[in-house]
Amino acid sequence: MDVLIVGSLAYDSLETPVGSREDELGGSASYGGFSAAFHNRKNQGNGIALVGVVGDDFKPEHIEWYKDSGLDISGIEVNQGETFRWKGSYHGTMAEAVTHETHLNVFENFQPKVPSNHANPKVLMCANLHPSLQSSVLSQAKATRVSILDSMNLWINIANEELRELIKKVDILVLNDGEVRMLSENDNLILASKEVLAMKNGGILVVKRGEHGVLALHPDGMISMPSYPTSNLADPTGCGDSFAGAMAQVLSQGSGKVRYDELAEALVHATVTASFTIENFGTERIRNLTNDEYEQRLSDYRTITNTS
Ligand code: AMP
Repeated sequence: MDVLIVGSLAYDSLETPVGSREDELGGSASYGGFSAAFHNRKNQGNGIALVGVVGDDFKPEHIEWYKDSGLDISGIEVNQGETFRWKGSYHGTMAEAVTHETHLNVFENFQPKVPSNHANPKVLMCANLHPSLQSSVLSQAKATRVSILDSMNLWINIANEELRELIKKVDILVLNDGEVRMLSENDNLILASKEVLAMKNGGILVVKRGEHGVLALHPDGMISMPSYPTSNLADPTGCGDSFAGAMAQVLSQGSGKVRYDELAEALVHATVTASFTIENFGTERIRNLTNDEYEQRLSDYRTITNTS
């Protein structure tokens, strides 16, 4: 298995300046999974598996969506109760989601069980979820190459100590700029990033900066890249998760310590992939992305950024 992803599987209610949707399939593991699955098909990798839980209200067609994209869903449990629900809205430049409601539902009593044949993925990606669930998966599975952790403002607020302990255990921490400032309590992004990296005792920090692109701190130096300038903005939900899913699959194709140039290349793919997610509501765009569309945009992005 190349990438094992644990995270939320959700029904989202979304409102953006372009429109609104009810009960749209979402969740950090769904977005991360569809994105990693796209790259797995493109790179002919050894597969992506999901670990998570859904309620008995979860629609069979959505199970089919996972299967159709080639995802291994043997680690998804169906439990009695309702699927996780999140309600959010975006305003103005859509830079930040405003959370209106979070209902953990079946995630409340969830005890993740990593299938034994997935206990040693090349990359273990703990997508956004309560740190105690991420921690449980980190203790059951050991990545043979790299472990990645994503989080959000809610956990920085209500599970701060737990999160601080957890970030020390992973190779790559992925956060957005607001979360880095919040965790470090420093408004200067460079200083805040350095403080967060010190908190995690080194390794790699990837800071997502929305329309401003990405900043990454690697032991060999910093990387800064712009976002892909798409003007087709519908719904930014899941951009961060698709970004991390693409990065995870690309990194699973290498071996040894993650080199600076390799991280930069993974971030190019992460950036280009995330630029598709925003172009429609929910997982629609990332699920139906074609290789031709992707290659065209990748080539445009390399021209814009003067990278080869
Ligand atoms: P992103 O826009 O990449 O930060 O991720 C959005 C996704 O995160 C949505 O599909 C939500 O279902 C999911 N989400 C929102 N809040 C939480 C939470 N507290 N725990 C796990 N997933 C969440």
